[in-house]
Amino acid sequence: MGLLDRGVEIKSPEQIDGMRKAGIVVGRTLELLRGHARAGISTAELDGIAEDSIRSAGATPSFLGYHGFPASICTSVNDEVVHGIPGDRVLADGDVVSIDCGAIVEGWHGDAAITVPVGEVAAELTNLMRITEEAMWRGIAAAHLGGRVTDISHAVERHVRSQGRYGIVEDYTGHGIGSAMHQPPNVPNYGRPGKGPRLVEGLALAVEPMITGGTKETDVLEDDWTVVTTDGSRAAHFEHTFTLTSTGTWVLTAPDGGEAALTALGVPFGGR
Ligand code: MG
Ligand code: MG
Repeated sequence: MGLLDRGVEIKSPEQIDGMRKAGIVVGRTLELLRGHARAGISTAELDGIAEDSIRSAGATPSFLGYHGFPASICTSVNDEVVHGIPGDRVLADGDVVSIDCGAIVEGWHGDAAITVPVGEVAAELTNLMRITEEAMWRGIAAAHLGGRVTDISHAVERHVRSQGRYGIVEDYTGHGIGSAMHQPPNVPNYGRPGKGPRLVEGLALAVEPMITGGTKETDVLEDDWTVVTTDGSRAAHFEHTFTLTSTGTWVLTAPDGGEAALTALGVPFGGR
């Protein structure tokens, strides 16, 4: 079976450069939102800031209208895992808010997410966020040309398990990305290495661990979007879009291309 049989989209270097443009818009928008995620702001206000940031950069918010989604970002607070809809909810000290953002430039997509503390949060939440972000980077760092997609999955799971008892959400996964936001292959956050499509130049993937302080079980609220933990435990979600080039790994949604984090993990930086 060839890669194309699995529906995996292989981009040219010029097309990857297009994805980098979208990724920079996403990365800068998330950094802007991180600064605004303070007690007293509503999630709808964060959404307005995001839409302005995306459109003023000449990009289009990819979430707005996606299967009817009504906003430019997802905002998921505390026990909400992903896909929360921005609205009247006002952030309070001690909350954690996951912000997921996507943008399109010239038809190419970027997709990334961060979880941000609001004011002072409990130490266990700081740990949850740190472990989730580290797991994302370990997953990206495990990807190399000639490897397989679940090498990433395995590295994410191994890191989370090494840190204690946490829930690794299985109902949602990372994904291929390019001329559409969600493409094959799925990138699960758990599993054995060495399976799935081969990692080749021109493939772009979104890696996005969703980790809880309790179990892996989730439910969807009556708004048909918001995913919450079944046990009410709090959750964290980090995501980046990355690709592999002939010289290394390039995190398209990180403003620095991922160079600092990759270098710290001993992974060659492949940006241009
Ligand atoms: Mg996302
Ligand atoms: Mg995604």
